[in-house]
Amino acid sequence: PSEEYELLRRRIYSNTKEVWYYIGSTLRSLANEFEYLKTKVSNMKTMVDEHYRSLLRDVAKLADVDGYSQWRWKEFHSLSRLVEKRLRHTQNPPDCSKARKLLCNFFSHCSHNNCCGYGCRVHHFVKCLIVAYATERTMIIENPIRWKFTSRGFENLFLPLSDTCTSNDGDTVSLWPGNETTQVINYFLPTPEYADKQFHPPYIPVVLPEDLAGRINVLHGDPAVWWIGQFFKYIFRPQPSTTIAFNEFAKRVHFQKPIVGLHIRRTDKLIGEASLHRLEEYMYHVEEYYKLKELNGEYDTKRIYLATDEPTLFDEARLKYPEYDIIGDPEISKSAASLQKRDLDDSIMDIITDVYFLSHHCDYLVCTFSSNVCRLSYEIMNSLQPDASAKFTSLDDTFYFHGQVHRLNVALISHKSKGPEEMDLEVGDVIEVAGNHWDGYSKGTHLRTNKTLLYPTFKVTTKIEVLPFASYPNITL
Ligand code: GDP
Repeated sequence: PSEEYELLRRRIYSNTKEVWYYIGSTLRSLANEFEYLKTKVSNMKTMVDEHYRSLLRDVAKLADVDGYSQWRWKEFHSLSRLVEKRLRHTQNPPDCSKARKLLCNFFSHCSHNNCCGYGCRVHHFVKCLIVAYATERTMIIENPIRWKFTSRGFENLFLPLSDTCTSNDGDTVSLWPGNETTQVINYFLPTPEYADKQFHPPYIPVVLPEDLAGRINVLHGDPAVWWIGQFFKYIFRPQPSTTIAFNEFAKRVHFQKPIVGLHIRRTDKLIGEASLHRLEEYMYHVEEYYKLKELNGEYDTKRIYLATDEPTLFDEARLKYPEYDIIGDPEISKSAASLQKRDLDDSIMDIITDVYFLSHHCDYLVCTFSSNVCRLSYEIMNSLQPDASAKFTSLDDTFYFHGQVHRLNVALISHKSKGPEEMDLEVGDVIEVAGNHWDGYSKGTHLRTNKTLLYPTFKVTTKIEVLPFASYPNITL
């Protein structure tokens, strides 16, 4: 398919959603303002919803009937294998004593002996692996104890990052950025709060490698997500015992498809980091998912996989949604709820299991992108198929990478502001995204005026930022 066709097809899909967000939110405020309009508005909303689902279904179907499905899978496998081959190459140098290395020091994501959560830690991990790829260096985990993955080590669960090289020795050592000839570069991973520009390699997502960006952009609706996902796919190659544990879990909880993955983050996250969303808000989007399926003539038991750190949600969901098959393990969320237990080996297995089922086996995700667990599941899900970029609903943030510099939008259609809270746009204007309000508008900082205001989401698109990474001329498929 041409790039133009793929981008158009996806744009129609996402703008169908945008127009629905806009109309839905406008109708809601009309009904709130004018009591006498309530019934009329409610009937109208029912019809608009039907229009929306029918349109969304048709656009989604285009991808099944346009004859390019096979090409998409082929291109997906070809690109994933290429990235994996390059990673195997950098991670397995024939002579470790001569290899150029990047030491990843996982000290800084802990303060006062309090380390950030699993999702946060593995994002640091992947950030480092991406920098190693970009600079064609072997990533070595410095101070694995500090990594606090599990007391039995990362390799108890996943295949080692390297079969040939784990020593941090080298003739020359320097802090990032060092230079081409420095053998060992010590990359001190800063937390976003203490980020020092000096330590910020330019390769951190959502920046993409110049040599692959064009292809990824044709293949995938959010190229940065696909790119990040490939690195998670590499670090999470399971040990056989881990695969067995996943299979046993699937049997025990009677895991079945189709299924919508629900991640509900509560407990400590609600102290200053995210706001509370009721179960009904999540379930609204689950219902939408199944209504679309019904429109396709696909009737099945409605099913959710529930992953949460709030154990009471299992009973609440069973009580309020008796027609649903609710799959998951309340015992897992009990340990997730207990901050003291979280770092124990068995609860590490719990979070790994939840992320595995959300990402590998759920057909759609409903969660909050403010949570690292939710974004991680989405990133991994997108590394396993050509384009799962639309298979989610986030109740709060738009997608971002943990520790990203920024995400940019570029205007495709000009806009005249309708009030002081909106910005003007000219075609080509660039905006640093703050968030999508899921009501037809996004908020962001206009880079020319430096003002943070609202703009209609359908008038922009994601700006793809690229840089030359190591180009691996000898590693081809
Ligand atoms: P964030 O705080 O939600 O951004 O994500 P982090 O991964 O940084 O920290 C959350 C921690 O809460 C994880 O390390 C888990 O221990 C725990 N947690 C949160 N949600 C879940 C869940 O759905 N299942 C399990 N098993 N643990 C969870």
